[in-house]
Amino acid sequence: MVMGSSHREVEVVVVGSGPGGYVAALRLADLGKEVLLVEERARPGGTCLLEGCIPSKALINAVGIKEAAENSEKLGLSFSDVKIDSRKLRAWTDKVVDELAGGINGLLRRRQVEVMNGRARFTSNKTLSVIGDASATIEFEHCVVATGSSLNALPPGIVESVWSSGEALELREVPETLLVVGGGYIGLELALVYQGLGSKVSVVEFFPRLLAGADQDLVDVMIDRVDQRLHEIMVESKVKEIREIGDGFEVEIEHDGMSRTERYDKILVAIGRRPNSADLGLENTAIVVNEAGFIETDSQCRTAEKRIFAIGDVATGPMLAHKASREGKVAAEVIAGQDADFDNRAIPAVVFTDPEIAWTGLTEHEAETQGIAVNIGSFPLSALGRARSMGRTDGLIKVISEPETGLLLGVGMVGPHVSELIAEGTLALEMGATLEDLMVTVHPHPTLSEALMEAAEAAAGVGVHMNRPRS
Ligand code: FAD
Repeated sequence: MVMGSSHREVEVVVVGSGPGGYVAALRLADLGKEVLLVEERARPGGTCLLEGCIPSKALINAVGIKEAAENSEKLGLSFSDVKIDSRKLRAWTDKVVDELAGGINGLLRRRQVEVMNGRARFTSNKTLSVIGDASATIEFEHCVVATGSSLNALPPGIVESVWSSGEALELREVPETLLVVGGGYIGLELALVYQGLGSKVSVVEFFPRLLAGADQDLVDVMIDRVDQRLHEIMVESKVKEIREIGDGFEVEIEHDGMSRTERYDKILVAIGRRPNSADLGLENTAIVVNEAGFIETDSQCRTAEKRIFAIGDVATGPMLAHKASREGKVAAEVIAGQDADFDNRAIPAVVFTDPEIAWTGLTEHEAETQGIAVNIGSFPLSALGRARSMGRTDGLIKVISEPETGLLLGVGMVGPHVSELIAEGTLALEMGATLEDLMVTVHPHPTLSEALMEAAEAAAGVGVHMNRPRS
């Protein structure tokens, strides 16, 4: 034991208070466990709350209101000079984050989950050392590793002074010109935020496609709209070097064997995240980490060490907050002796661009590449009363099903508010629904949700709102 360090014995220790860790801690406490939550940051909530999902969506919402106001002329509405006060917007975002962090603290307190501030590291398969406000050696019966992820290291040739997504979300300034390196969801969401705030924004992506996981027909609808808002979208383009020059940056970009050099006031690098598994002392345990650094787990979120569980971004699977929370509940229930499994059929993915993109279950691209025969029905929002009344017809919903049985395999969407609509598709997949289930479910009119029913009808060849030849 280190001098000045206490020795504690606990039933369960949870490391990390993001949407994986704090949810696991709450569920464990509800199931009667004595829980110690170790977190190295001053506030709970993890990446998601402090520098991810929540602040980004607060900014996207504000920019969305501005965009809607500016595009309302056709509805007979005109607003004179809609302005964003970035100082007030920053204060608003900070307040949202503060209140939610306070809320998590309240939930933890009321359930008597003890929170210890410090950095945890395994010293064996039943002990952790915590270095922080108070240093301690923790001996546990069970442990849940929920340490999340960090930004990928910058590639060689890129100066340190570029923005990360966290720095971009701080909204310290609105540059005149901004280059976003990375055409994934984080890069695109932030590109549109800064465009909405007044920056001239360019996006550069190494791969031939933006948003690699999403079906191209969905991405195309989004690009059609954002193309007018973004200064330039460069795909199959490699950033060779970023140099700092006085009050800006000089960037060498290579495309098709040709190099060009451009100047930008700011650069945001959004090139993915890596699991926080290094420096956790995992070598003192039998926990297995794959080549990319993700901790390998079974369907109960258990690692190769029976008493240690791993959930969220640090474990294999998509790096999404809702996946982390679901795993947190599964791990807690298994630790409490329940028969729980992370056996979900679908984990929805949402890109909060304008229009939004969402998908759940099998994508059309996956069906093609895996040689799975599917039946696809799609319905354009332009044929939907609600979308027309909103003046937002840019979008579609498609359903992917098994040809013989009509069993639903996947749902893809692009359009306004599809981040909300995708939950119905996910529930349908979890319930093992068929096209018929979607078709005979009465959907309220006029709503965007009708498009899911209509897409199922289109797949079954019985849609009434699509033109079809008379037999
Ligand atoms: P985290 O939220 O990363 O939390 C891990 C916690 O562990 C941190 O608080 C960290 O300080 C702590 N920790 C790490 N190591 C130690 C240690 N050794 N000792 C003590 N504490 C430690 N996901 C979505 O689903 N929807 C979105 O819209 C979305 N938007 C995003 C936008 C941005 C800009 C970013 C960066 C991410 C976004 N994500 C989104 C991803 C989401 O934030 C993560 O998937 C989610 O936070 C993962 O949760 P987690 O609990 O696994 O880890």
